[in-house]
Amino acid sequence: MSDACAICGESDWSHAYDGPIRDGVFGRQRPGRVRRCGACFVEVLVEPAQPPEEYYAEGTYRSDVGEQPDIEHFFERHDHEQFRQFPLLQRLTVRHKRIADVGCGGGSFLDGLAGYAEETIAIEPARSYHASLIGRGHRVFPDVASASEAWGGRMDLVVCFSVIEHVADPVSLLHGIHGLLAPGGTALISTPNRGDILLAAGCEPYRQFFYRVVHRFYFEDRSLRRAAARAGFQSCDIVYRHRFGFSNFVGWLTEGRPLGDERSALLDRRFDSHWRLALEHEGRADYLYAYLS
Ligand SMILES: [Zn+2]
Repeated sequence: MSDACAICGESDWSHAYDGPIRDGVFGRQRPGRVRRCGACFVEVLVEPAQPPEEYYAEGTYRSDVGEQPDIEHFFERHDHEQFRQFPLLQRLTVRHKRIADVGCGGGSFLDGLAGYAEETIAIEPARSYHASLIGRGHRVFPDVASASEAWGGRMDLVVCFSVIEHVADPVSLLHGIHGLLAPGGTALISTPNRGDILLAAGCEPYRQFFYRVVHRFYFEDRSLRRAAARAGFQSCDIVYRHRFGFSNFVGWLTEGRPLGDERSALLDRRFDSHWRLALEHEGRADYLYAYLS
């Protein structure tokens, strides 16, 4: 029983990967082992072991990924990313709503919604951000359980970006998020897509970068749906979003490293937007977003 998949409960494992994985910033590596569940298709990092909970609370995580724990540095690194995520709210209503962000970091996403929302709930283990979050008018909790005591069953929207892959028990995280929602509420969850084009293309340097010590679970469509259903959600609508242009793809294949958008596009912007749209349509984008209700 102890060997059961944390997502689906089955024990149908096969070997997925054995080799160097990322440990913080690009270039830092250590040996890792990943296995795949044959029932729900999630991949799970078996070794090394999960970092202790304090790792996220005390700021070690941020320094390992090349960040400083102060709020201004968070804004510098993450404010601009929010403009990719706001369009995902177009199908929802945010005016006068109660909105929670689970794993909000310094709160850049909530800042963008504060003018619309009735309440913004910031759920974040890293203590170094708490004073600033409070100062900007958000209600702050270190985890979902403590937020639920005050706000359980009352949230209209709960977002949780790039968190589910970090936790020891994703179904329990989703169950906690489900418990925060008011009747008719929606959760929006994001996680890296293990059906990503670079993995599908067999790019080995990217595989070593994609698997990382802090990501315990690697989801694709079927595994995320299974986790959502087990957590009590009735509906799961998945969309894909791709962050980088075609040059980044070519950079990985030719130089084996992340160029992001640092190099000017090989082809024009119109090609890049077709590139992104095609990957998003095919489920080969680097991120997936799930609307759960
Ligand atoms: Zn499974």
